[in-house]
Amino acid sequence: MTETVIKLHNSKSRSKEVFAPIDPKNVRMYVCGPTVYDRAHLGNARPVIVFDTLYRLLRHVYGPEHVTYARNFTDVDDKINATAVSRKEAGAEGTLEQLVTERSDETIAWYLKDMGALGAMEPDHMPRATEFIAPMVAMIEDLIAKGHAYAAEGHVLFAVESYKAYGALSGRSVDDMIAGARVEVAPYKKNPMDFVLWKPSSDDLPGWDSPWGRGRPGWHIECSAMSYELLGASFDIHGGGNDLQFPHHENEIAQSCCAHPGEDFAKVWMHNEMLQVEGKKMSKSLGNFFTVRDLLDQGVPGEVIRFVFLSTHYGKPMDWTEKKAKEAEATLRKIAEYLNSDPATQGQSFVPDRVPQEFVDALANDLNTSLALTLIRKYLKERRVADLRGALRLVGFDPIALVQKFSSVRASTYSREKGASSLQAAGYADEATLDLMAKFVSQLTELRSTAMETKDFAPVDALKTALMDAGVEVRMSKAAVELLPGAGFDAAKLEGL
Ligand code: AMP
Ligand code: ZN
Repeated sequence: MTETVIKLHNSKSRSKEVFAPIDPKNVRMYVCGPTVYDRAHLGNARPVIVFDTLYRLLRHVYGPEHVTYARNFTDVDDKINATAVSRKEAGAEGTLEQLVTERSDETIAWYLKDMGALGAMEPDHMPRATEFIAPMVAMIEDLIAKGHAYAAEGHVLFAVESYKAYGALSGRSVDDMIAGARVEVAPYKKNPMDFVLWKPSSDDLPGWDSPWGRGRPGWHIECSAMSYELLGASFDIHGGGNDLQFPHHENEIAQSCCAHPGEDFAKVWMHNEMLQVEGKKMSKSLGNFFTVRDLLDQGVPGEVIRFVFLSTHYGKPMDWTEKKAKEAEATLRKIAEYLNSDPATQGQSFVPDRVPQEFVDALANDLNTSLALTLIRKYLKERRVADLRGALRLVGFDPIALVQKFSSVRASTYSREKGASSLQAAGYADEATLDLMAKFVSQLTELRSTAMETKDFAPVDALKTALMDAGVEVRMSKAAVELLPGAGFDAAKLEGL
């Protein structure tokens, strides 16, 4: 028996509901994954972190072996094809089909590596659309047989008027949609809102044989078919960004509920709000578009990104700012310093991790992650090592990795090998940065001993300011001078010093 009551906001009922799984021995969640045409941008990481946190909570409450999480890869896409075509034109070896697969493969590998750096576990199932074409074709045939879809000019369309509840999730009527939407009015559509289940493919692009000719599936049918194959006709949670609520999720519901009448499809619908950057929508034209990899390569650790994301409730728009990243990094450093100083972490004593019930309850209350982070700060302040470690783990931070990455390297008593390996493991600094830090540690130490005699501290302050301007945290105590190059460290600013 679990003492935890999970409550989740269900977009479908527009209210917070007590979560009662269909089968507590097999709690099932499906989340719409990326279209794999290029690196994931920072916004794409939001659903990954949100649903990873929910996955961890469900595993904690129901047991890791009683939760099944599926997240797809959409690998049928014009942009993937376009990259393959341009590679072929540039003389790449292989058939177009091979080049398409190669592009999807490389993007998927990047995705898993980048999301792994954010502490996201891999779901139990990661189906690729191209591996589930036969179930999609079968589902489309079934929809035609049941009178919910029709074939026309090589296309198959879903007839929205055949499904009374169409629009229930997003709260729109078909008439409103027609009035408000810029829909493609194709001659073969009976109703302008009818959407594509199958469409023809040209001979030179990837396609699959079907009763309606060589073609490819529409995007929405992919998720309906894959969730059915992997999780069944009724499952517990369906998630994704709220940009997917209409039309993607509305269409998934129409397809799945018409193909499997009497079943629920997804009982709870959860949507994360969008991510912005410094108060603005992230877009290429505004010049504030960046990928997760861009940030990691700039030296922003994945843990910092995760911490910043968790500080905002998933149901609220969230703003990525450099200020928040700096604050998160400072908190993680404090946590790491404390864990590092604790005998339990040093291996001198053994204290098993513990997750306080109040911490589980915070997450169970519709994923109140900002309260969870407040509790983590409290356990730090109260020096509760077992609670701190248990809580960190539950929201996806490995305490040992935090110590390795975020506790400071004492540059003054600095043993080169040790310093280099731990800083490099952290992805913070290359050899050159380490040399530079060692040089400034001696320079500052010398300037300080001179200043003790002359009583003129201006040169010490000048160097400190220059270092701080370059993004280096300066800590001076009687015992030591420590320099910690932060996420925004810029070596160029130190040239000529
Ligand atoms: P896509 O590859 O565009 O289908 O997006 C993959 C996932 O990222 C979907 O769940 C989207 O809802 C989500 N997503 C895309 N842009 C953002 C954003 N700016 N903020 C949060 N989530 C986003
Ligand atoms: Zn989907």
